[in-house]
Amino acid sequence: MKTLNLQTNDGAQITAYTFAPILKKGSPKVLITAMLHGDESTAKKVAQALIEKLKNEKLIGTVTIIPKVNEAAAKIGSRRHPEDDKDLNRQFKNIKNKTASNHLADELMKLAEDYDYGVDLHVFPGEHSPVVTVCVARGDEKVQAEAERLQEIVGPDVIWKLDPFKGETEKFGTLMGYLLNKGKPAFGIEMPPEDLVLDRQLEKIVNGLIKLLIEVKIIEGTKPQTTKNIPRMKRQLLKIEEPGRFVPATTKLLKPVSKGQVMGTFYPERTNKPVEIVSPFSGPLMTIAQDGPVTVGEKFIAVGLQLSW
Ligand SMILES: [Zn+2]
Repeated sequence: MKTLNLQTNDGAQITAYTFAPILKKGSPKVLITAMLHGDESTAKKVAQALIEKLKNEKLIGTVTIIPKVNEAAAKIGSRRHPEDDKDLNRQFKNIKNKTASNHLADELMKLAEDYDYGVDLHVFPGEHSPVVTVCVARGDEKVQAEAERLQEIVGPDVIWKLDPFKGETEKFGTLMGYLLNKGKPAFGIEMPPEDLVLDRQLEKIVNGLIKLLIEVKIIEGTKPQTTKNIPRMKRQLLKIEEPGRFVPATTKLLKPVSKGQVMGTFYPERTNKPVEIVSPFSGPLMTIAQDGPVTVGEKFIAVGLQLSW
């Protein structure tokens, strides 16, 4: 393993760990990133566990892992960068007036030039969630299909189909979208926050990544099987519009929810009077806010809209 210290144009540091074979020529390269958002420490935990596992593997290709991309945001546990209040995972595009987040994005884009595949690890902060991989509808059909096939190798509970052109328009400028546009198969993995994640979920992700690295010929091993029948979903969100406290009525993920079902009780800060939170959607429960304080912009629930495949 080699440690790389990358430096952005404005002097910020990014530490990357590279595992490479002795004869590198022409062999494939995978880039795995975590903590583009500073409040997603579970992603760092996965990256570190993967680094430990790779120490015992025989390498035939190169994998570079960055457990903590956004050091400044991680230091204060914030999604956004403290200097410019930007969401780093929306900066992978041409931007004229560059601030700290853009310099980080530039450095990652420069590094990614040299790689064939990308996996970006994320967390649903404050939410109970299954292990979800994310298909972003960017790049041509071929690269999208390959990214989806690789997700079947990883074997999540759900494949989330995210189309920034339809619905989740705020998801432009992601690292995954950038890589897909460059013709590099890439996808995200979403997981619960550290206080909710289960050991078996962490294992599922780390083992899934090992299978992926075997499949794309980074490490030696028996050709992995794809997981069949992983449900494909879009998200339907019930957003939180004022600060308060939420008590979920269920945390049974991927179980069917029906329209009108009570999902929990909300105590708005304003009145502290309990309000029943009712699902406006029917479908499998993808995520639900954990017991505790919630605020504007977060979600009470995400209900899956199941897609055929
Ligand atoms: Zn994230």
